[in-house]
Amino acid sequence: PLDKDELGSKSWAFLHTMAAYYPDKPTKNQKADMNNFFHIFSKFYPCNICAEDLQEQLKHSPPETGSQEKLSQWLCRIHNEVNKKLGKAEFDCKLVNQRWRDGWLD
Ligand code: FAD
Repeated sequence: PLDKDELGSKSWAFLHTMAAYYPDKPTKNQKADMNNFFHIFSKFYPCNICAEDLQEQLKHSPPETGSQEKLSQWLCRIHNEVNKKLGKAEFDCKLVNQRWRDGWLD
């Protein structure tokens, strides 16, 4: 059976990793494609309540596709809104590239 939490953590891993490797200087096409990607993703994400929620979030806060940094920070904020709704801890968005790209600096 479909496990909403397992699907969620794996989907976030994919989405944050994709944002982490998005270009620093995307072309016009890459920006348009990334914007389309999130809109289409939100229509087919196989958890209804999650998908509807994401569609609402995209209306208020469209994907910031100007650069890797912008996209990763935007997605971090989107994920934090879901964390808040679910009563989970807020993630410190300054650490997003360490978590999803560079590894922890210690
Ligand atoms: P997850 O929230 O899955 O996070 C995985 C890892 O990402 C964490 O361990 C942490 O290292 C890192 N992380 C956490 N926050 C951030 C952040 N802000 N930025 C970067 N990295 C971060 N579940 C519902 O019950 N209702 C919903 O409406 C819902 N909507 C969802 C919408 C989307 C688009 C997605 C992908 C998932 C949604 N989920 C929803 C699932 C939910 O967000 C979690 O994935 C699930 O509850 C499992 O949580 P988790 O504790 O494993 O950590």
